[in-house]
Amino acid sequence: MGDKPLSVAVIGGGIGGLTAAFCLLRAGFDVHVYEQAGRLSEVGAGIQVSPNASRLLHRLGLADALAATGVKPLAWHQRRWDDGRTLLRAPLAEALEATYGFPHYQMHRADLLAALAAELPASRVHTGHRLTGFTARADAISVTFANGRSADVGVLVGADGIHSAVRQGLFGADRARFTGCVAYRGVVPADRLRHLELEVTAQIWLGPGQHFVHYFISGKRLVNFVAVIEQDRWTRESWTDRGSIADALGAYQGWHPQVREIIGAADETYVWALFDRPPLPRWSAGRVTLLGDAAHAMLPFMAQGAAQAIEDGATLAECLRQDRAVEAALRRYEGERLARTSRLQEMSAGNKTRFHLPDGPAQRDRDRQLAAGGQAWSFNGLGWVYEHDAALLNRDRDDQQMSIGSAANGRPT
Ligand code: FAD
Repeated sequence: MGDKPLSVAVIGGGIGGLTAAFCLLRAGFDVHVYEQAGRLSEVGAGIQVSPNASRLLHRLGLADALAATGVKPLAWHQRRWDDGRTLLRAPLAEALEATYGFPHYQMHRADLLAALAAELPASRVHTGHRLTGFTARADAISVTFANGRSADVGVLVGADGIHSAVRQGLFGADRARFTGCVAYRGVVPADRLRHLELEVTAQIWLGPGQHFVHYFISGKRLVNFVAVIEQDRWTRESWTDRGSIADALGAYQGWHPQVREIIGAADETYVWALFDRPPLPRWSAGRVTLLGDAAHAMLPFMAQGAAQAIEDGATLAECLRQDRAVEAALRRYEGERLARTSRLQEMSAGNKTRFHLPDGPAQRDRDRQLAAGGQAWSFNGLGWVYEHDAALLNRDRDDQQMSIGSAANGRPT
């Protein structure tokens, strides 16, 4: 990389920004993270970390930190909304770990963010820095912040979430689209639900116009839930707000008692408007690029938004490491990532329809397919998501596959 390492500014200290900074630091770049909030923080809710993400986090040295609080679910259990009948039950943690080599975890988001932050030198993370603008010059980007500070850097990475200022600066103002779904989220002390004898599984209950997900987090001390309902409009200014337990229970009238008891046991709930965006045709211009929700915001119905943000960071670092021509490296990065994240954006949107089918012929057809297993959207069909190693670029992946193929054919590699 020459004498002076390339300087990189990552805007946004969420899961995507911190992972990218960690990967870039490991690759030898002079990276700094700028976060608008006064401290790094995550919402008080759970997150599923699938093997494609845990593979990269383990490689960064976080295996112990993930294992300390992460919960490995026995199975992915899809159930019918009213009688709780099993629609699909697919083995999860052990089966995925045996197949892909890395665990599937369910975690508290704050634990994941803290694990990442603990490994980044404090001198590299600047809170209270809200990006207000950037100007591209021939060989650098000048970045300005609301606190009056500025920086000149070799690469600017927008990891600033769904309402990204960097994306707006690159491609102009646009609005994320309201997906017609809102999510009530909450966590409940597991002790309060002991009488339900909940299995350590990820359970998803499918019903007309809505669904409900729950799983253990924080060393099984907490149960996380996400209750998603369809709603025509989002009229509040904020996209997240304190919600009422009574409203959430009202929306789940007639649902299985287990669902209602979990909601009813929460002290508080937050309601989120769920927005997404159609896939962007490109993520980079010159020395500026995007990652995470800034690049590919999606409905959470594949549990892959943060996992893809984690993958982005690994691929970005590898592209910049392999190619010293920054603009070419950034084009390569988006070329490596776009098809995969676009596919997941589309599948996530498609799951809204599939999860929320009204009772009737289409629902019965879906349930028959679930019982048979093997569809692209069941866990059996998701090998392409879990086996992906985002630190391997396509060319290297092809080379590796060729050498495996040659070895299998008994030819020298
Ligand atoms: P963010 O987490 O939004 O972080 C962006 C950061 O940038 C923030 O810290 C923000 O303060 C900062 N920022 C914004 N603007 C500026 C600025 N101008 N200057 C400086 N800083 C700025 N994903 C999964 O992988 N698994 C799951 O199980 C899962 N479940 C989900 C459930 C729900 C209900 C929802 C809504 C999402 C879920 N997701 C899940 C998706 C996941 O939460 C997101 O994809 C992920 O958090 C995106 O991370 P990010 O770092 O790109 O953005």
